[in-house]
Amino acid sequence: MPNYTLRCTSCGEVYSKRISYAKLNEQSCPKCGSQKKERVYAGYGFAIGRNKSGG
Ligand SMILES: [Zn+2]
Repeated sequence: MPNYTLRCTSCGEVYSKRISYAKLNEQSCPKCGSQKKERVYAGYGFAIGRNKSGG
């Protein structure tokens, strides 16, 4: 299975899960339990700010 890095959009916690893509929505933050999250792409998501234009 692929390993996904996710970032909680509620508390900012970054965590990794080895799950199928279909299970992504079911994952909840290990810190606060929120299911609001976004994908973090390795070597890409940390350094840059979020840019809401486009999508
Ligand atoms: Zn959280």
